[in-house]
Amino acid sequence: MPKRVQVIGAHSADFVWRAGGAVAKAVSLGGQAEVIALSYGERGESGELWKQPGQRVENVKKIRHAEAEAAAAHLGASFTCLDLGDYPLQIDGDRLLEIAEAIRAFAPDVLITHTATDPFNPDHPIAHGAVDRARSLAAGAGVTSAFDTIKPPQLFLFEPHQPELCSFTPTVHVDITSVWEQKLAAMGEMKAQQYLQTYYAQRGEHRGNHARRASGRSEVKYGESFMRVLPQVVGEL
Ligand SMILES: [Zn+2]
Repeated sequence: MPKRVQVIGAHSADFVWRAGGAVAKAVSLGGQAEVIALSYGERGESGELWKQPGQRVENVKKIRHAEAEAAAAHLGASFTCLDLGDYPLQIDGDRLLEIAEAIRAFAPDVLITHTATDPFNPDHPIAHGAVDRARSLAAGAGVTSAFDTIKPPQLFLFEPHQPELCSFTPTVHVDITSVWEQKLAAMGEMKAQQYLQTYYAQRGEHRGNHARRASGRSEVKYGESFMRVLPQVVGEL
């Protein structure tokens, strides 16, 4: 069954490193994917751009938008930024409803966001909390509500930069071997964060190794890992 996959990250590049392969894989199987960034990461994750003399925040946002849009296009996804500001990302009631409306409008089968803990980043846990609450607002509590609801999407957390410190335990490995070149191309668009490209290419190899060990499938070369939040409902074990 083709899936509708929605990734909501705190900053405009977060999806590329951590879920780019899963997005491209879903699209390659006939699914649809949408990436939403809550901010451009214009202050906290665009350091290279600020080295240019006379740099302005509107120009940084423009560059970051173009990079993320190009990266998403390599993966077959659309890209939207809510431009809520970063470092600190702050989510008030209206912004929470805006995120809930975006989830309701796309009605994803699979929703992907950050872990609840990240000692190196002030915005990622805020994004997690907002997306988790917005998901519940969009889907209700699994019963009829006073407002329009969507079928509850599965919620997955993508892999943070230092997983051990973020209480991240992988429970799902996705085989992204067939779309690896697309992920590399998408990462290559993130010129403001070139230092992450090598790191996440190595991570893809490591997770491919782990996926082979867990499954016995020797054809898996590259993987991306996620942590499932909600129980999987199956007809049999
Ligand atoms: Zn980020």
